[in-house]
Amino acid sequence: MRRPDEPEVQQAKAEVQAFARQGGALVCRVADAEAFTAAPEGFRPADLLPRAKRVVVIGGAPPRAGDWASPVVAQLESMGTSDRINALGLKVAKFIEERFGYYALFVPPGVNKGNRPFLSIALAAELAGCGTRSLAGPVLHPEYGMLFYAAIITTLPLPVDGPLSTPVCPAPECVRMWDAEGTTPCLRVCPIDEGGCLGGTLVEGRLHTRRYDSARCTTRVYTYWIPGFQKALEAALNEPDKERRKMILYSSFFTRTLWSLTYAAQSQGQCYECMRVCPVGLAYRTKK
Ligand code: SF4
Ligand code: SF4
Repeated sequence: MRRPDEPEVQQAKAEVQAFARQGGALVCRVADAEAFTAAPEGFRPADLLPRAKRVVVIGGAPPRAGDWASPVVAQLESMGTSDRINALGLKVAKFIEERFGYYALFVPPGVNKGNRPFLSIALAAELAGCGTRSLAGPVLHPEYGMLFYAAIITTLPLPVDGPLSTPVCPAPECVRMWDAEGTTPCLRVCPIDEGGCLGGTLVEGRLHTRRYDSARCTTRVYTYWIPGFQKALEAALNEPDKERRKMILYSSFFTRTLWSLTYAAQSQGQCYECMRVCPVGLAYRTKK
């Protein structure tokens, strides 16, 4: 099989990026499939798609500025948008296969073994240079802040973008706050030593250490959706009293959980408070 030359792969990349942008992606970049050395064996691109060369990462579909501005916490919790980027990920995979004749595999958003994702989408976003990891956890894009990401593994040897050279987090405002108060906006809103989930230190304006209570955060992030459904179902099955069982199953919590499963795909129940206070992307989510 003839290998495509440089102008051909450059042209292919431009077409893939234009297709993703037309579909609503705010960012579309390419990581080298061989760069996933930080992922455990079995969870790397070539484990999912033999002869994988690249991972195309698309990002977008963040909550709207109005969602961030709403004082009703349940509004943001009920406003799932990650399904839109996943739907676009499937379309990008189809586009690559049909337009260029190379394999393209959309990484499923669910979990493989041991509750692990098939491929770490955060690692893919980092390696493609869509943003960098933050003290709060999400990969932050320099302009848009928190985005949802989808990844497409392909045998098409597109030119690689690679990781960003300058970390997005901590933002200059956070460095100033750290120097003055020994904390940052995200650490202050969810302090790990006071019942929250985040801890860490900055040294000379850079992230130095990070502490994260993932189990505690998960119970706050996935309050509805599949974990919420499992939790409520278990409680209902274990409840011997008929009236109390009815209360669980017809409660607004269980109704919202079912709503999230059936209509709004998978990102319902996000906590988001550490992102709400993050200055990265603030200009983008500030409107009149
Ligand atoms: S998502 Fe919520 S619970 Fe998790 S770290 Fe952020 S503020 Fe804390
Ligand atoms: S508020 Fe945002 S930019 Fe600042 S330290 Fe936290 S995650 Fe990083």
